[in-house]
Amino acid sequence: MAPALSAAELQRQYRAKRDADLERRARPFWVVRPTESDRKTCLCKIHENTEFLASTLYKCGLLSTKNLEQLADAIVCNLDSKACAYGECDACSTTAVSTLRHAPNNMITFFQWATETSTSGEEKKSIITVKKELTKSEDEVVEEFQERMVKFRKHLFNIRWQYKAYRKLRKSPEP
Ligand SMILES: [Zn+2]
Ligand SMILES: [Zn+2]
Repeated sequence: MAPALSAAELQRQYRAKRDADLERRARPFWVVRPTESDRKTCLCKIHENTEFLASTLYKCGLLSTKNLEQLADAIVCNLDSKACAYGECDACSTTAVSTLRHAPNNMITFFQWATETSTSGEEKKSIITVKKELTKSEDEVVEEFQERMVKFRKHLFNIRWQYKAYRKLRKSPEP
């Protein structure tokens, strides 16, 4: 059962919801639709962590580019195919991002966002996101990057699909 909420918390939630409703009604609905630049700047953890890996491998001379979209597009046979993006296409489900050279076991450091449980003060536990510096061997990082790209191509497909859906909606006549 959910813990009982205090009156103050209930009131805060009610106000937040009411404000959001008012705001939604006050502005024309197309204002909230994503723009081209929103699509290019998804700031989620999948994006940022994969980006950290790509730029590290690019700096080491293992990747030809650190552009994630370019790398992801190169490992599917059809950009419009959901099956390719979701790893359900026999032709490209196991396609890996091509690396420029063999990755040895030199150690390299890179950043990743990670969630941790912090116990601060009087045993109040909270989940916090921290930027961690990690050290791993190049071949391990390459392997991790390949695994991430499998998730990333799916993520990219979903973002593009949502963006296309919004565009279509915008073009359709007003109800
Ligand atoms: Zn993202
Ligand atoms: Zn495919």
